[in-house]
Amino acid sequence: MPQIAIVGGGPGGLFTAWHLEQLATAPIEITIFEATDRVGGKVITPRFTAAPVHYEAGAAELYDYSPVGDDPLRELVESFGLPTVALGGSRVYVGGRAIANLDDLRDAYGDRACRDLGNFDTWARSVMTPREFFASGSDHAGSAEPSGRFDTTLAALPSREIRHYLETMIHSDLATPPAATSVAYGLQNYLMNDPAYMRLYCIAGGNEQLIDALVARLAATMRRSTVVEQVGEGSADQLRLTLLGHEGRREADFDIVVLALPMDALGRLAFASGSLAAAMQRHLAHHDHPAHYLRITLLLDGPPHTPTDDDGYLMLDAFGGCCLYLESAREPEARHGVLGWLLGGAAAESMAAWSDADLVTAALATLPDPLAVDPERVLEARVHRWTGAVSSLPGGWQPLSQDQRHRPAAKTHPGLFVVGDYLYDSTLNGVLDSAEHVAGCVAAELTDHAREI
Ligand SMILES: Cc1cc2nc3c(=O)[nH]c(=O)nc-3n(C[C@H](O)[C@H](O)[C@H](O)COP(=O)(O)OP(=O)(O)OC[C@H]3O[C@@H](n4cnc5c(N)ncnc54)[C@H](O)[C@@H]3O)c2cc1C
Repeated sequence: MPQIAIVGGGPGGLFTAWHLEQLATAPIEITIFEATDRVGGKVITPRFTAAPVHYEAGAAELYDYSPVGDDPLRELVESFGLPTVALGGSRVYVGGRAIANLDDLRDAYGDRACRDLGNFDTWARSVMTPREFFASGSDHAGSAEPSGRFDTTLAALPSREIRHYLETMIHSDLATPPAATSVAYGLQNYLMNDPAYMRLYCIAGGNEQLIDALVARLAATMRRSTVVEQVGEGSADQLRLTLLGHEGRREADFDIVVLALPMDALGRLAFASGSLAAAMQRHLAHHDHPAHYLRITLLLDGPPHTPTDDDGYLMLDAFGGCCLYLESAREPEARHGVLGWLLGGAAAESMAAWSDADLVTAALATLPDPLAVDPERVLEARVHRWTGAVSSLPGGWQPLSQDQRHRPAAKTHPGLFVVGDYLYDSTLNGVLDSAEHVAGCVAAELTDHAREI
């Protein structure tokens, strides 16, 4: 029976196992190796200790592309019967002032600035339609995708205020300064605010339920607390993994190895053979564009004040532009307020060295008047530092074909695949696309191999 190893028990690894199990036409044996004692990676919905209230420490929102095209993530969530809640947020707070629409913008900055934004918006839509947005990252994206650095686009905007407004609006999604990413990725993160392009939702009761639902349905063997340290060559064209777990260090050979790891973890893996190490070096050099997140979440005594009932989040111009999640707005009749700050980019990287207490003080100081919270009301604070955990330039400056992306050493080591959100758009939807592609390739190879025998 073909032996398949999946390295990484995050969403990428679990999605790959799920699709492989759906597609396999003959028996296969899948083992998932996860370094920590829990699977789910950056989809994590912890609970506070002071009250039975949960919050999102990693991925907070899922992207709904169903108005434009196929949406495998939405379909998966629905097929598992998981209830969802739509997420919305139109407010950007600049200098303590809420801007929710063009009238607010005109009041704040005047007619000329308003026209500048209108021109930028028209241009953005003309270079990336909802269909092109949907296809971005795929082999069908075509050469029409805008190229170059995103900061050059912003620098061309006549109005300084509009530049600041746009940077505030999208900084926490980009998680990087505009100079470190492409026009295409910058525009995607601007256009995603328009429901004609996509919508946001989350899983009621916590996104980690998606992980639980997957794990409950998988037949694969799960090896938790097992770090894969090295990939090398085994006997008879197999790949050999060096594993470190409770029982010590050991080696095991597999016909197929799927590395379902983010860039930082992939960079820590050793590759034993010279040609494999060189191929992985090229893969890393193309895709390694680290971006940073930091999340500060506060449990409040009593419900928070929210600007409107349907706001799930808003943007603040603090920390270079950050997102404030009104997490308790997702729960009907929440008895406790939960506020979550998502910092991105340079602020997230440098402030990761701060103490939790200093981060909480800094976060509370950013709240605009309508949302101000007396520090006495904070029952519990949680901080999650995600330095280097996501990609600022998914796909790299020049996106590769699907096969080149997923098979970094196709000629010399055809049994080695990679799965990652950094190959598409740094999201769960992207890592699912990646997993689907790899599962399809592996299933097709196993079928061909079985026919030859
Ligand atoms: C703060 C934050 C907010 C985010 N918000 C969103 C959002 O709103 N929407 C969205 O779609 N996406 C969001 N993302 C991105 C999303 O979390 C990722 O797309 C997704 O988690 C990628 O899955 P993955 O399996 O590739 O990586 P991970 O989730 O990182 O999982 C990798 C797994 O591999 C394990 N591992 C690492 N090294 C080894 C090793 N050597 N051996 C064995 N196991 C190993 C890790 O322990 C981990 O469990 C966010 C990410 C962060 C950090």
